[in-house]
Amino acid sequence: MPDIAFHGAAGTVTGSRYLVTSRASASAGRGHGGNGDERVLVDCGMFQGSKELRQRNWEPAPFDVAQIPFVVLTHAHIDHSGMLPRLVRQGFKGAIISTLATFELCRLLLMDAAKIQEEDAAFLNRKGLSKHAPALPLFDARDAERTLERFTTRPYDEWTDLPERISVRFGNAGHLLGSATVEMRIQETDRRTTVLFSGDLGRFGVPLNPDPDPPPAADYIVLESTYGDRRHPVESLYDQMQALVLQSMKRGGVLVIPAFAVGRAQQLIYVLNTLMRQKRIPDLPIHLDSPMAVHATRIYAAHPDEQEARGELTARNVISHSTVEESKALNSFAGPGILISSSGMLTGGRILHHLKRLLPDARNTVALAGYQAAGTRGRDLQDHAATIRIHGEEVPVRAAVADLCGFSGHADTDEIVRWLDALKQPPKTIFLTHGEPEAAAALATTLQQRKGIATRIPRLGEVANL
Ligand SMILES: [Zn+2]
Repeated sequence: MPDIAFHGAAGTVTGSRYLVTSRASASAGRGHGGNGDERVLVDCGMFQGSKELRQRNWEPAPFDVAQIPFVVLTHAHIDHSGMLPRLVRQGFKGAIISTLATFELCRLLLMDAAKIQEEDAAFLNRKGLSKHAPALPLFDARDAERTLERFTTRPYDEWTDLPERISVRFGNAGHLLGSATVEMRIQETDRRTTVLFSGDLGRFGVPLNPDPDPPPAADYIVLESTYGDRRHPVESLYDQMQALVLQSMKRGGVLVIPAFAVGRAQQLIYVLNTLMRQKRIPDLPIHLDSPMAVHATRIYAAHPDEQEARGELTARNVISHSTVEESKALNSFAGPGILISSSGMLTGGRILHHLKRLLPDARNTVALAGYQAAGTRGRDLQDHAATIRIHGEEVPVRAAVADLCGFSGHADTDEIVRWLDALKQPPKTIFLTHGEPEAAAALATTLQQRKGIATRIPRLGEVANL
């Protein structure tokens, strides 16, 4: 009998990591794992958020790393991929299976994560702030490079045998370029078990991302529940953006949009250029000021399955600023036009330099295009702070501040139900993961009431027999 152990994203939204084991006794064949057991890890994400959560990244792996021959990766976001370099540092010698786009985005995101790890450790050592001497990174650039060497890419919709009893197939999850659901078949002598991992499930009818593929039949589903207790606003992103750009032009200055560099920045460019092509807003320059966003935009534009997006993302009015000199060239930019830079919650990055200059001028507009966590400058702006602190200075906020709602990458309650509606037969159990406890509990109730499906909310470390 196979089992699944929930080693992350249980009771919280980060650290996705599930270990599937098919026991040797159930089959005559000898598999990988020394004693004939076969193991596949699905995702290996970093815990993010509170200090208590981040501390978990330092705990020893709850399994023998050397006994894992395969990791199947749903998508490139750090809360799903970010501990892969740590796994390699701890002795992982197997293969990482992902789509091609996920591999390309991982190259960007994992190298960046390694740089942050190294910089944080160096900072703590310089300031003597660490209890551990010297402070170490979770992993470094060399670990990230060795991780990238372990990737094997596979297309959507094709089965891959992970010898001998387990096979997997990717479906499009519509959450981020390359994002996938993972359909897993476990063939033991007397029976076959199918498990579907939703990964992060995207939305229906949003710009740039395709709708999620309908779910294949499965005995069990491991389902994300980030927005299991919420409904996204229904107002069209295009209508919101059109109104925002026109208002910003009336004020006469720059429209600044802080955005996460991978995924969100590309969606914004896509929406803006679509509106310009449709003549709903005038032609304006879009300055993209973030080396990571510039690189990610190239990856998006190069992907053959995103043909129609290519024109919007590489149009002549999109002006890339990768180097520091190119970024400084924007110091005299006064509009009209759009400036997209990161980080999305104003926790760091080039956006801070721009805001220091642009916030005190009432002609400018700042649009917040994503969730703003408590305690960030982004949240302060959203809460109408009169000043925000940047690089030790109190910067007055005279620019207009607006919210762009609905740019979420995650399906809400109704969209999750809609996705499951395509199932001809309900699964035996849906495991609800990747959600805060309230969100997972609300989704459990919804699925029980609206679809009569049995659910289970696993605790961290819990093992379920399948
Ligand atoms: Zn994600």
